[in-house]
Amino acid sequence: MTTGTLWLVPTPIGNLGDFTSRAVDVLSHVSLLCCEDTRRTGRLLQLSGITAPRLAVCNEHTEHDLVERVVTALQYGNDVAVVSDAGTPGISDPGERLVAAAVAAGLTVTALPGACAAVTALTASGLPTGRWVMEGFLPRSGQSRNERLAEIATERRTTVLYEAPHRIRRTLDDLNAACGSTRRVTVARELTKIHEEYVHGTLGTIDVGEPRGEYVIIVDGFTPDTTPPDTETIRSALDDVLAEGVSRRDAASIVAERLGVPRRLAYDLAIGARTTPQPNE
Ligand code: SAM
Repeated sequence: MTTGTLWLVPTPIGNLGDFTSRAVDVLSHVSLLCCEDTRRTGRLLQLSGITAPRLAVCNEHTEHDLVERVVTALQYGNDVAVVSDAGTPGISDPGERLVAAAVAAGLTVTALPGACAAVTALTASGLPTGRWVMEGFLPRSGQSRNERLAEIATERRTTVLYEAPHRIRRTLDDLNAACGSTRRVTVARELTKIHEEYVHGTLGTIDVGEPRGEYVIIVDGFTPDTTPPDTETIRSALDDVLAEGVSRRDAASIVAERLGVPRRLAYDLAIGARTTPQPNE
């Protein structure tokens, strides 16, 4: 028997014009449509002139229980589609579990290209797009939030985050504390809608005004400081280590390792044999 296809169909993130004709074609022929909210999806289908297929609610609570029904429908040759309320299913939205189950069962999964707030914001952010990380929503509080912020602080690739309006200020403050005030950032708001806006700046200076609408935050990657430490920095590090009662020789080794400077230079400064580095050191 020919098996069916699981179709992942993006829906608009604000502008109905972004609903592709291919998306309309696919949703018009599937036997079952998994969606987060039947009323919301029903409205989209109606606006697009699609006769409603059978709908099944697929959200964080129900997706697990839908897996068997969807896999069976596909195995019996029925095409099934997944949509979310807005954007690409499976991206900070339900869908991932159904896809994993279909792939594990050897079934065909096809994703349609279309609206996704993360990619839309990233491409217009002015920040590097070659290598980037999708962080999605940060945990709201606690240790796991702090750990994720610490990871973003040293992440060299551009990081993309989603955020709700009532948390945007706190998240920007936390990113500022973790990544430093000079890190470049772009905040994208209400993409594809009338009040679409991009605010560019640094974490220390960005002003998003009165929070309203939906947000994507794009944070520049971490660039390690490769400037060699100056004499004062080496001397101060030596003072700190010597204060712990370590010998000058050992202090020089520790500081050389820590700051990536020649051991000889650190030792000379530790014993006061010289006051400045020599050329090429
Ligand atoms: N699957 C969706 C996608 O492909 O973009 C994302 C769904 S996630 C539950 C919703 C979050 O996406 C919002 O809280 C916001 O951070 C972001 N988002 C969705 N639409 C947006 C828009 N029009 N402008 C800015 N951000 C948006």
